[in-house]
Amino acid sequence: MVKQTIQIFARVKPPVRKHQQGIYSIDEDEKLIPSLEIILPRDLADGFVNNKRESYKFKFQRIFDQDAKQETIFENIAKPVAGSVLEGYNGTIFAYGQTGSGKTFTITGGAERYSDRGIIPRTLSYIFEQLQKDSSKMYTTHISYLEIYNECGYDLLDPRHEASSLEDLPKVTILEDPDQNIHLKNLTLHQATTEEEALNLLFLGDTNRMIAETPMNQASTRSHCIFTIHLSSKEPGSATVRHAKLHLVDLAGSERVAKTGVGGHLLTEAKYINLSLHYLEQVIIALSEKHRSHIPYRNSMMTSVLRDSLGGNCMTTMIATLSLEKRNLDESISTCRFAQRVALIKNEAVLNEEIDPRLMIKRLQKEIQELKDELAMVTGEQRTEALTEAELLQLEKLITSFLEDQDPESRLEVGADMRKVHHCFHHLKKLLNDKKIFGNNTVSNTVSSESKDQDCQEALKEEEYRKLRDILKQRDNEINILVNMLKKEKKKAQEALHLAGMDRREFRHSQSPPFPPGNPEEGQRMRLSSAPSQTQDFSILGNRSSLLHKKTGMREEMSLGRQEAFEIFKRDHADSVTIDDNKQILKQRFSEAKALGESINEARSKIGHLKEEITQRHIQQVALGISENMAVPLMPDQQEEKLRSQLEGEKRRYKTMFTRLKALKVEIEHLQLLMDKAKVKLQKEFEVWWAEEATNLQVNPPAVNSLDHTKPFLQTSDSLHEQSQLFSNKSSGGWEVQGQGTGRFDVCDVNARKILPSPCPSPHSQKQSSTSTPLEDSIPKRPMSSIPLTGDSQTDSDILAFIKARQSILQKQ
Ligand code: ADP
Ligand code: MG
Repeated sequence: MVKQTIQIFARVKPPVRKHQQGIYSIDEDEKLIPSLEIILPRDLADGFVNNKRESYKFKFQRIFDQDAKQETIFENIAKPVAGSVLEGYNGTIFAYGQTGSGKTFTITGGAERYSDRGIIPRTLSYIFEQLQKDSSKMYTTHISYLEIYNECGYDLLDPRHEASSLEDLPKVTILEDPDQNIHLKNLTLHQATTEEEALNLLFLGDTNRMIAETPMNQASTRSHCIFTIHLSSKEPGSATVRHAKLHLVDLAGSERVAKTGVGGHLLTEAKYINLSLHYLEQVIIALSEKHRSHIPYRNSMMTSVLRDSLGGNCMTTMIATLSLEKRNLDESISTCRFAQRVALIKNEAVLNEEIDPRLMIKRLQKEIQELKDELAMVTGEQRTEALTEAELLQLEKLITSFLEDQDPESRLEVGADMRKVHHCFHHLKKLLNDKKIFGNNTVSNTVSSESKDQDCQEALKEEEYRKLRDILKQRDNEINILVNMLKKEKKKAQEALHLAGMDRREFRHSQSPPFPPGNPEEGQRMRLSSAPSQTQDFSILGNRSSLLHKKTGMREEMSLGRQEAFEIFKRDHADSVTIDDNKQILKQRFSEAKALGESINEARSKIGHLKEEITQRHIQQVALGISENMAVPLMPDQQEEKLRSQLEGEKRRYKTMFTRLKALKVEIEHLQLLMDKAKVKLQKEFEVWWAEEATNLQVNPPAVNSLDHTKPFLQTSDSLHEQSQLFSNKSSGGWEVQGQGTGRFDVCDVNARKILPSPCPSPHSQKQSSTSTPLEDSIPKRPMSSIPLTGDSQTDSDILAFIKARQSILQKQ
């Protein structure tokens, strides 16, 4: 058992704005416990906090300042926890802090650079690397990914659902067994045999997380996400299985609202926006107070799920993420205070070992057989389960004569056979019981009386049969129970196999590319996957593509108009720079991998040649020895020495290149995941933008023959009516080409557009812009009532024309 308090670490996020000096300082004297001092500027101390304290000091295990790399965070925080999970202990790492302080960045990683990958991918990498190295045990790894939003659990790893909102995902509920163990119903565990499979699951969960999020539910700030690695290990031949879980938790934003507002008790009485964090705090307070018998775990789903991590069987670590800017100081102080309380909680982690009943039965059967064989060898006779009739009769005679023998020294000798010893006791007990039943009759009387003896024998037999029958029944029951247990285990294994098969089939069936044809990386992927040694590893890329395809609901046959609009949207989108950068890096990595692959092949064939050459030399020497009747030299000659050292050199080169290629492969995988994720996001935002453009076109179609150049286009329902009349009065076919320079547009915010071609403000959601610009492009029109909200290609080209027209206006501005 390992007793340990929860370890607390602090990480300070680099500021968005220019560094604000003097707000905090870190004291990391090697002899002392590191401490973080937060200094309140005078103006804040006067206005905000009633006791006017100017500085607050908090102790942490370690404090990581703004420039701390993800690698450092992993090495210092996550690696030791992963190490104990590999030994069989439960582990939890949770990030706590206000929204934007870097929880997701720390736990999952940044969405742009490979070097920004967070604790989850690095831990997976580390665990699989260790499993590969350790051949003394058999390991199984499963992954689950749970999101808790508003007291409801959702399974983020359900591949069968196309989530467009959280409610589409399977709901996870909590069950508690009589021993108060928590079980999560509906949360699927997916087996991952390689790092790539595990990363794909992380990607699947993150994509579901992103797609399910809507501005309404703000899932990423209001929900808790728990990524769990379940690890089982067993030594070959042993019946003991070790189970360990590692929870990596990205908690909801810890921001609070002031109860009494500015000037009041902001730092003491603020309340969490998120109710379950309030319950988490209550659990932490209860745990940190001595002699508290009741800990309110059951108040929320999150505290129930993390019950073991808080004051239970787990090695737990907390990372307090801090965004130490002037406006966040109160939140940062709250986070640090929370951490100080957490640091008081003691956990007791034990090895979670379990006996596997199947393996136990097998082992016992083997042991029995061995003992039987040993016994047969000693006694020289094969021993059966039960005594024979003749043996039983012989024994009973012995007992009778023993009882009749008046000699106090007489002994009942049955030999070293436990079956016979047991039978004697059994028989004696019966005789004793019978004596009680038959009242005054003494044993000697019973024995001496012929007729009574007869009756007794009969009764004894009856009794014995009944008991034997009972024993038989009992054994039957035991066997049934064991058989049922075995059947259940077998069924579970089959179900798991079936599920794995289904997943694989599902992945295999969908190989179509997610993006419009001509996507350059698809070609890259194909090329890489055609390299023989990589085929298996890269086959999962298809899975991801299909998933992406499914998740975004992207149609393979996007209308031309929509495709073009997508290109425009993509070009202007802020993320496209990241995608392009990553594309470039990916290209470089691909060509490096290709070159490495070629060099590896070259080295491999060189090794083959060198080996061949050495063998040839040996054959020649032997042949020479035979023909000239000379002994073959024992030591290699100079030439051979040279060949051998060349061979060693090539082998070393091969190994170095191979290690590099492996690392490259992981990096490429990760970069592709990042890009795919960015693309899903892009696609999602495009869909929103497109729908809004369609609405804009319906509500604000280009005006015809408008003479008023200053009035914004279609601002009121009156003008809308006017406009619609105007349109409907036009050509009977509903389509008319507009002349140049006559229409007007309600233009979106130009600045917003520059950053991101985000959804143009729709009239119902945004203030009307007063900017208007003459429309110079020709735009096709048709009556508003006939324009559906996107879908057919004709409408799509209308919307495209609308977008283009606005673009040209913006360019001219
Ligand atoms: P949270 O999950 O706490 O709301 P995020 O992890 O999403 O916060 O971080 C907010 C933003 O800050 C993201 O754009 C993230 O990339 C960036 N960020 C957070 N921590 C760091 C860091 N240590 N270094 C660089 N960027 C960071
Ligand atoms: Mg987050």
